[in-house]
Amino acid sequence: MIRFKRVSKAYSGGRPALQNIDFHLNKGEMAFLTGHSGAGKSTLLRLICGLERANDGQVILNGHDVSQLKKQDIPFLRRNIGMIFQDHQLLMDHTIYDNVAIPLIILGKPLEEIRRRVSAALDKVGLIDKMKFYPIQLSGGEQQRVGIARAIVNRPMVLLADEPTGNLDDKLSKDILKLFEELNQTGVTVLMATHNLGLIRRKHRRILNLNQGRLTGDRHAED
Ligand code: ADP
Ligand code: ADP
Repeated sequence: MIRFKRVSKAYSGGRPALQNIDFHLNKGEMAFLTGHSGAGKSTLLRLICGLERANDGQVILNGHDVSQLKKQDIPFLRRNIGMIFQDHQLLMDHTIYDNVAIPLIILGKPLEEIRRRVSAALDKVGLIDKMKFYPIQLSGGEQQRVGIARAIVNRPMVLLADEPTGNLDDKLSKDILKLFEELNQTGVTVLMATHNLGLIRRKHRRILNLNQGRLTGDRHAED
């Protein structure tokens, strides 16, 4: 589903953010991406969804080379990807319903379909009764769940999460992780960047570890 072939990325004027990255994530797999701050986790995720472009190598998503896509093709790529951010990037002046509906509105989906899918996504994250609220009226954990609902409303094949539990306490972090595991069980491929090693211990999942832009570990977690 996701394949990196000798991928390197340097931002202009900076040290290489990623060097010679090789890995393959199968359809339906769930893996964690670890590494200290600045190791290249965000960059790796941003390359997959076309928010950044590799300088070298190939980033292949579902058979398509993302690094070769033209700018106008990027929105088509994004339809297959749900992206979740640490700061969830909700629109504060829009309701929960509207926040989750945005990806579908952009795609020009019929109103009835939007209603049905937004309800399904909010139901999945347990926030159906808060759809008329504004983000400010929700707790941090609930806001993050709205971000997840927005990411899954388009039923993407791939979910990319960048430190999704970074601002949450242990209990809420576990809830969010459980939600990703449930989505993974429905067949969605999940790649989640985190530096919270305690959270992913004993999960017996694959862990890709980055160190200063290099892939230094690719293993299944023991405890
Ligand atoms: P992580 O997500 O693991 O903290 P990042 O991918 O954000 O790592 O960063 C990797 C490296 O790339 C760091 O050295 C960081 O300073 C640099 N970097 C990230 N984004 C940019 C950018 N937009 N411009 C220049 N340098 C960047
Ligand atoms: P810009 O180039 O103006 O930043 P982008 O299209 O790159 O516009 O992103 C705009 C916003 O859309 C991002 O800040 C992010 O919140 C959201 N976004 C981008 N890609 C995705 C994605 N794959 N899934 C969900 N939201 C996304």
